Amino acid sequence: MTRASLDRRRFPTVWADIDLHALGRNLTTLRRRLPVGMAVYGVVKADAYGHGGPAVARALQHAGVDGLVVADLEEGTALRRVGIERPVLVLDPPLPQQAAPIAAQGLTATVTSIKEADILAGAAARTDTAAPVPVHVRVGTGSGGLGAPPGLLLDLLAAIDRAPALRLAGLYTHLSGSESMAGLRELERFGALVAQADAAGLLPPLVHALSSSALDNPALAAAAQRIGCTAVRCGSLLYGLRAVPGPTPFPYTPVMAVKARIIRLATLEPGDGIPEDATLSAGRQTRAALVPIGYADAQHLLHLANGSLLVRGHEVPILGTPLMSSLLADVSTVPDAQPGDEVVLFGTQEGAALPAEALAERSGLPPSAIPLLGPRVARHYRTIPRAETAPV
Ligand SMILES: *Cc1c(COP(=O)(O)O)cnc(C)c1O
Repeated sequence: MTRASLDRRRFPTVWADIDLHALGRNLTTLRRRLPVGMAVYGVVKADAYGHGGPAVARALQHAGVDGLVVADLEEGTALRRVGIERPVLVLDPPLPQQAAPIAAQGLTATVTSIKEADILAGAAARTDTAAPVPVHVRVGTGSGGLGAPPGLLLDLLAAIDRAPALRLAGLYTHLSGSESMAGLRELERFGALVAQADAAGLLPPLVHALSSSALDNPALAAAAQRIGCTAVRCGSLLYGLRAVPGPTPFPYTPVMAVKARIIRLATLEPGDGIPEDATLSAGRQTRAALVPIGYADAQHLLHLANGSLLVRGHEVPILGTPLMSSLLADVSTVPDAQPGDEVVLFGTQEGAALPAEALAERSGLPPSAIPLLGPRVARHYRTIPRAETAPV
């Protein structure tokens, strides 16, 4: 059998549907709630929160995002390799060994000290690129922040401004909480630093502080604009993951749904141990479905209390403890369930919904952890032609 005909015959029993059209719509929704002219940087670190970094970055670039944010040089390199031309901000400040590849690929570096700036400037000067390396300075405004100490900020901005091989492009902080009062205090501290930089003639064009949870908070969003923010860094909301529970006037659509297929059905009599988990026994006759998804595929299954799945549009409980690669679901209330049936771990099915946020709540994990899946879960991209999103 040829490789191609084998591929056509594959019948995955666990996969993630990723709707890149929904991603584009979420970007539009976000833009609609921001002041006109506010730049949006899409956060695609951690392989785009498990959605696939290159595919998501290409879809966001296509939808007109202003820039992208990655964790490190490796992720930035992966985006340049698939043709991302928008600015790519790397959150981790570069180690000396990483300065040259950052410069060579035109990535935007985060800098938090004069020493980092000097090393980057040296590497940039030795690199054969036409344009200076764009730099964003990260400043700490919360407790034990990861950025430059506020007292050193002006000297750092001046050092970057003086280096011909660097271009001072941005100034940012990351709020340590989305809670209104603490967030507002942190924003005010950041605002004072922005004003100082402005007075010294050292204010770069991009000033940013807000990410998803703060963007969901109107008081913080208004304050950010007032202190001179010109950009936001957004991850979770673009993936349709709300960081704070409660109503929102702006609907975001989940981008990912995780699905599997029933492999086998078994009837458990009262007193029977649950196969593969003798710690729990059936109290009544139970129709159990074996579903090939476990905590190696979706880590929240390790922490889930009152877990459930969707089968034929019904929410059914998970029996006992999910294992590494499988779990059992109680499908007693769905008598027509069959092997081969599609099961939804999170997402929607026939009008029923099991949102990732609900699983986050039941497992005590942040919503952004729910789509971080194991390597077995194949990603199926919707709406953008397959050829364009083939994994690279
Ligand atoms: C992850 C991250 C973000 C995005 O956070 P969301 O809450 O997912 O929007 C923004 N800024 C920094 C510095 C981050 O590390």
